[in-house]
Amino acid sequence: MTQYIGRFAPSPSGPLHFGSLVAALGSFFQARAQNGQWLVRIEDLDPPREMPGASEDILNSLRAYHLHWDGEVVYQSQRHALYEQQIQQWLTQGQAYYCQCTRKQIKAEGGFYLGQCRNQNHSASGSAVRIKIDHSVLQFEDLKHGTISIPPQIAEEDFIIKRRDGLFAYNLAVVLDDIDQGVTEVVRGADLIEPTGRQIALYQILGYTKLSYLHLPLAVTDNGAKLSKQNHAQAIDTCNPIPTLLQAMLFLGFNIPEAIKSQNIEKIIRWGIQNWRLTQLPIETEITTRFSNRKS
Ligand code: GLU
Repeated sequence: MTQYIGRFAPSPSGPLHFGSLVAALGSFFQARAQNGQWLVRIEDLDPPREMPGASEDILNSLRAYHLHWDGEVVYQSQRHALYEQQIQQWLTQGQAYYCQCTRKQIKAEGGFYLGQCRNQNHSASGSAVRIKIDHSVLQFEDLKHGTISIPPQIAEEDFIIKRRDGLFAYNLAVVLDDIDQGVTEVVRGADLIEPTGRQIALYQILGYTKLSYLHLPLAVTDNGAKLSKQNHAQAIDTCNPIPTLLQAMLFLGFNIPEAIKSQNIEKIIRWGIQNWRLTQLPIETEITTRFSNRKS
């Protein structure tokens, strides 16, 4: 049997907050409960959205919460050659192509790109690169939520793999890295359900069998917005981590005995690994309505 390899892949746009701690813990428990490896990958693909020092800050928070990863931390900023090589190969094979449509044009045509540039032979200059989707992925299985359907307009779109400004797209980097790192299962927040179909489409194009997926419930603000660095979710306490750790574990559905709550952090984490069950995990009820938040 292949060994389980899981990962936590934060973007360094700010410090670790409660929502990202939940994702880190969920992926950690799921990996360790199966004696698997747990990797950390910093997704620093988008420099304008990064906060100086955030990567180190996130790693320090993981250490403070005793979430110890395996191997070296991987940084996407150091892997551009891998991404570019794949794009060039697809361009040569006709599996990807240059596109010059602006956001404004796409919006005016209903919000979805309809393949206008597929046969235009645009040059690289001033173009984005899109992948040709010939076989759309209309559904996938989530370990907790069962079959998730993806709206055809999203599934069928030739999506961007490299932006016009030269930045590599999240969907491309995440798939190439998960393959390269041998990841067997992706555990992450439910906000990333939508791009999962696109990621599976890339696996198919690359001839890889897709991974298994588990999407965790999202921590939201009082008015229902996702906790994120963009809405300045508070950094978690790293000096006194136990109260926040217990809160995040409750959020993941653990029923923690009083005798465990008063233990040290190492023992609490160990208890968490031993008692992690997917059945305890709350269902994310809004999962099917999460397709409005487009990420490409
Ligand atoms: N870097 C992404 C984020 O922080 C997560 C990517 C993933 O887990 O697939 O939202």
